[in-house]
Amino acid sequence: MKEYNGTIYRPPVEAETYLLPVTEGCTHNACRFCSMYKGIPFKVITLCDVEEYLDTTVPLYRRMGIDLSRIYLLGADPFALSFNKLKERIELIKAYVPECETITMYAAVRNIMTKSDDELRQLKQMGVDDLYVGIESGLDDVLENLNKGNTLEDARVQSLRLLEAGIQHRDMLMHGLIGHVRKAPFTLSEEADDAMWVPAEETINLSSPDSPGNALYGLYKIFMQDQKGECDNRKNNL
Ligand code: SF4
Repeated sequence: MKEYNGTIYRPPVEAETYLLPVTEGCTHNACRFCSMYKGIPFKVITLCDVEEYLDTTVPLYRRMGIDLSRIYLLGADPFALSFNKLKERIELIKAYVPECETITMYAAVRNIMTKSDDELRQLKQMGVDDLYVGIESGLDDVLENLNKGNTLEDARVQSLRLLEAGIQHRDMLMHGLIGHVRKAPFTLSEEADDAMWVPAEETINLSSPDSPGNALYGLYKIFMQDQKGECDNRKNNL
């Protein structure tokens, strides 16, 4: 079995999910805030190698009694694979793991654009669901500054297309980026308000390092209440 090239990332809620290598690296690999796949060229793992991995590992997982009803495809954006390539890999999964009900993975906005509505519907019927989409910010100037590679409108349209095909998705928001771009402190509330349009089942809130926007809004509110309290006390003592 060939060694997987690069670090493996998967959403925390997929900690117990069977991970299947399908791609390596990221097709974009140019977001300014991201170093997850630096130095790892994008690569599609061959059908032959995917089958070898399934053949070797599925029996082990079965012996360990691990639930295989959900499978997570590895890579920064395996949804970049063409419809036909995804279909071939899903057919392999079904052959080795007939009990698999849900196939989940990271999907970039640009990946959704390359699929027709009919292809999205077919993927849903094949079990593709619960995708993770990196929206990052609900603000166009932030997306552009970070070289995300898509506009806010792109993200909104593609998110809706997924939902119309019946594919649920959880969208990731990278709080703190607005503060980093606009050099403004305590902007988490504004950013969250501006991201309310995201038509996902759930938004996953992350924070980026080295940014004033990282400050937790709750702590900020407590701080402001304390400040107000001190101010009122001073006024009362005048
Ligand atoms: S698309 Fe995702 S994995 Fe790729 S560079 Fe941007 S944030 Fe990183």
